[in-house]
Amino acid sequence: MEAGSAAATRSRLRARAADLAAGGVEVIALTFVDNAGLTRAKTFPVDRLPEVAAHGVGMSPSFDVYTSADRMVASPHVGGPDGDLRLFPDLDRLVPLAAQPGWAWTPADRFEQDGRPWAACQRRFARRMADRAAALGLTLRMGYETEWTVVREDGTDPGPGPAYGMARIVALSDYARDVTRALREEGLSVLQLHPEYAPGQFEVSTAPADGPVAAADDVVLVRETVRAVSARHGLRASFAPSFTPDRVGNGCHLHLSLHRGDTDLHRAPDTAYGLAPEADAFLAGVLDRLPALLAVGAPSPASYLRLVPSRWAGVHQCWGVENREAAVRLVPGDGHAEVKCFDAAANPYLLAGAVVAAGLAGIADRAELPEPVTGDPVGLPGARRLPRTLDEATGHFEASALLREAMGEALHGAVLAVRRAEAEDFAGSSPGDIAAATRWRY
Ligand code: GLU
Ligand code: MG
Repeated sequence: MEAGSAAATRSRLRARAADLAAGGVEVIALTFVDNAGLTRAKTFPVDRLPEVAAHGVGMSPSFDVYTSADRMVASPHVGGPDGDLRLFPDLDRLVPLAAQPGWAWTPADRFEQDGRPWAACQRRFARRMADRAAALGLTLRMGYETEWTVVREDGTDPGPGPAYGMARIVALSDYARDVTRALREEGLSVLQLHPEYAPGQFEVSTAPADGPVAAADDVVLVRETVRAVSARHGLRASFAPSFTPDRVGNGCHLHLSLHRGDTDLHRAPDTAYGLAPEADAFLAGVLDRLPALLAVGAPSPASYLRLVPSRWAGVHQCWGVENREAAVRLVPGDGHAEVKCFDAAANPYLLAGAVVAAGLAGIADRAELPEPVTGDPVGLPGARRLPRTLDEATGHFEASALLREAMGEALHGAVLAVRRAEAEDFAGSSPGDIAAATRWRY
């Protein structure tokens, strides 16, 4: 029986590889996102798909303790030259890449050589948190919105024009259309694309996905597709939190809503803001733990150049209804909440999982949201400023028993080591130097 089913799987995979090849796919990129937020890849020819699906592809665990500058550090559980992991493609997510002819992409789950899941696998962490929610009968719809800055190879702005300016869309008409087209060809549902506040800055949002893993997969695909379309137009895309410190940065806000079966817990009748008690408690849990979550969602020293008041980056630990200066913005009309203080240097699996862990803790504690904040939160009591440095956020992360338990020691320790190393690498650097060093890493 066993051998028979293995043979059937093998032949299904051969047929899948043949289909992909017939559709023009020659090479498959297998990616995972490290704790510094960089998407790392191995690639293999399409006809090796059955082999790779059965045995995985090798890759050193040391990338879990790489900084964004490719400096390898060490944590209590990870580091050094020894050992190897197996990366397995998630074939349900495999998709031909619209802006890289001949290529397909699939996210990886990471395992030890003996087949045990790798304790520090970020994608698995996100799945475990989704499972925890599911065990309580809860599901989440989640989606990241992507902001980026695009420049010509010589660094100049390819599409001058004001914030939200149609002039910028006209100047980059083919580009904006090709980004939209490529994402749609890849099966993503594009909601909207627009020019953002800073020169050369754009934003695209895609429909929310079922749960943290799918949301994170989506944003990885969005980002790498935008990067590839940009290159085909002779442009360079940067997702770095701070392209230039004196300007609005690139955020990567997390949108989410909580559901129990078919019941949308953000559209509860007879409540002030549509929040059922569980959704209220979930958001209260997230809000309460934002200082620690910031080390996950704003993980680079450059993140703190972006986290400046009056830039709609949500630097105050408060919530508000449609308040763009609050870290948590409730959007009752759309039935969801947006956590604004995060950026694209974050590992989206780690971040989505950590936010779910915090929200579930809020439910367990029967937490309640405080009063919402209206207007600019600066100086308001009850609207504390979130950590101003990576060191400060990392201190909260290190002390968070909740995140340590949810992630497990190996993952929590690796994240901590990377944060400490990044903070150390940039200690004493000027904002300009930090932005310059990180601009093209993300
Ligand atoms: N670019 C802003 C940020 O850093 C967000 C602007 C907005 O979309 O509200 O998060
Ligand atoms: Mg935006």
